[in-house]
Amino acid sequence: MQSNVISFKIDHSKLQPGLYLHEVKDYGTNYVTTYDFRFKRPNQGDYLTPCQSHTIEHVMATFFTAKLKDKVYWGPMGCLTGFYLVLNGKHDVEEVMSTLDECEAFWQELLASETVPAKNPYRCGNYKLLDIKEGYKAWNAFYSSRNEWGKEYPIIDECPSDEGYEKDIDYNINLK
Ligand SMILES: [Zn+2]
Repeated sequence: MQSNVISFKIDHSKLQPGLYLHEVKDYGTNYVTTYDFRFKRPNQGDYLTPCQSHTIEHVMATFFTAKLKDKVYWGPMGCLTGFYLVLNGKHDVEEVMSTLDECEAFWQELLASETVPAKNPYRCGNYKLLDIKEGYKAWNAFYSSRNEWGKEYPIIDECPSDEGYEKDIDYNINLK
């Protein structure tokens, strides 16, 4: 089977920074909502640094845990272009969008105190890779461009096949 990962159906060559509703998945008795906080245009040479990604992970995990009672998970994308937020239940983009001014205020509070939540070897696996000013640079660039954010995911069915990258292949994963 070809990969059914939703992210792999997005045309990353056209994806703009923005806050996207990634998926509202129906589990029968419950929904789970996933958001895509896309900080960077993919494959354009400008990425989050590991330190920025890690700092934003700590700051916004703290913020969303306090702010959204349905928060399940907030974490970075491996490609260093953004983050996923997962909420229990069915939610829309506006609900999360409406919290972002308060998130900015939280960043300001942390900048003023020059602290990052859980920056110590007991609560973090790489606590020296955290820097509030570096993290804020990336958050601020994202948040202050919100009037230009993309609105909808560009979708791709098949990759053009004549360029120099690895071709999509069928994987044999037998799911029981
Ligand atoms: Zn950490």
